[in-house]
Amino acid sequence: MVNLQVGKPQPDLMPLEENYSLKRHNTFGVEAIARYFAPVRHVEELAEIAIGDLWKSMPVLVLGEGSNILFTRDVGGLVLKNEIKGIAVMRETADEVWLKVGGGENWHQFVMFCVGNHYAGVENLALIPGSVGASPVQNIGAYGVEVKEVIEEVGAWHLEQHDLMRFSNADCAFGYRDSVFKHAYRGKLMIVWVVFRLSKHPRFRTGYAALREELERMGVKELSLETISEAVIRIRSRKLPDPAKIGNAGSFFKNPQVSMAQYEALKQRYPTMPAYPGEHETMKIAAAWLIEQCGWKGYREGDAGVHQHQALVLVNYGKATGQQILSLANRIQQSVYERFGIMLEREVNVW
Ligand SMILES: Cc1cc2nc3c(=O)[nH]c(=O)nc-3n(C[C@H](O)[C@H](O)[C@H](O)COP(=O)(O)OP(=O)(O)OC[C@H]3O[C@@H](n4cnc5c(N)ncnc54)[C@H](O)[C@@H]3O)c2cc1C
Repeated sequence: MVNLQVGKPQPDLMPLEENYSLKRHNTFGVEAIARYFAPVRHVEELAEIAIGDLWKSMPVLVLGEGSNILFTRDVGGLVLKNEIKGIAVMRETADEVWLKVGGGENWHQFVMFCVGNHYAGVENLALIPGSVGASPVQNIGAYGVEVKEVIEEVGAWHLEQHDLMRFSNADCAFGYRDSVFKHAYRGKLMIVWVVFRLSKHPRFRTGYAALREELERMGVKELSLETISEAVIRIRSRKLPDPAKIGNAGSFFKNPQVSMAQYEALKQRYPTMPAYPGEHETMKIAAAWLIEQCGWKGYREGDAGVHQHQALVLVNYGKATGQQILSLANRIQQSVYERFGIMLEREVNVW
């Protein structure tokens, strides 16, 4: 078992690059230049940025693996890339384990670590790209599970006050692809570690039809963390475009949540519209369906496009700029609004 101290201090100073290309650091693969770029490997290194006054007048952007961001311009300030590693067992009982995980750990590798050690709770979230530190930001979710269900505490460095803040699960104000880190603390913090509370007695979540079908296809007789994660990996590898082959950031928009009254009115006009219960007595409507109805699926303009099989995924076929992708996204939003009266909200963060 890996049992490292999260953010163990090192004597060397934080390396700093100047005029650094971010193309390799975003899964859309668009070009943007960071005035300064620094990988952060230890929490203590963040204190260094408090020393220089240089940063006070500059924007600071925290970056994980760049799988949920669209750069539409250069970053005229400092990009802090989270590379804080380590997984440590904080506490353990016969039934549960508490793991403190560095924000720079790769999310999928962390899921596989949990599966390998029989820690249950994140297996449905296998193969979601990105870092552990970004997972609370939009409360990542897939196949009937959201990360908020297993987060006990979040540790974040306040980039203006220069101190460490601790957020309980309730403090994070998690919602559907949402948290306090997207609102009151947007751009102000770097999440340096996350404490996960995982179970040693799995409660398998197979509510999603696609997941059940895949398990059946695999001939699974007895459910386990391995078979669930394997089924999720197979579905995702088949359905979602691999950013290593074609630039994208997964779902570009959230599934909109509408009031029951609005849902009923739409359902009358569009009986085949897919929808399922949302938060606070709303209905969540499949954004992909709305986009497809407006004729965008497979649309391409230059190198910016809408994926042929996934209408919710905008893609960069090669040389598209962030501006071109954003302009396409704006037109999609507008046409969905004109046809259905629903304003799609972006899931991807735009810089
Ligand atoms: C093919 C594909 C499939 C996807 N599928 C899913 C899915 O099923 N479910 C889902 O929820 N998401 C999905 N996503 C989106 C993405 O994987 C998640 O949002 C992921 O958590 C982003 O992690 P990241 O490290 O790449 O974040 P980045 O893209 O680097 O950052 C995203 C945002 O979070 C901020 N941020 C990043 N790290 C930190 C930090 N340590 N502290 C504070 N702020 C931070 C950034 O400033 C930025 O605003 C998918 C993306 C792709 C490309």
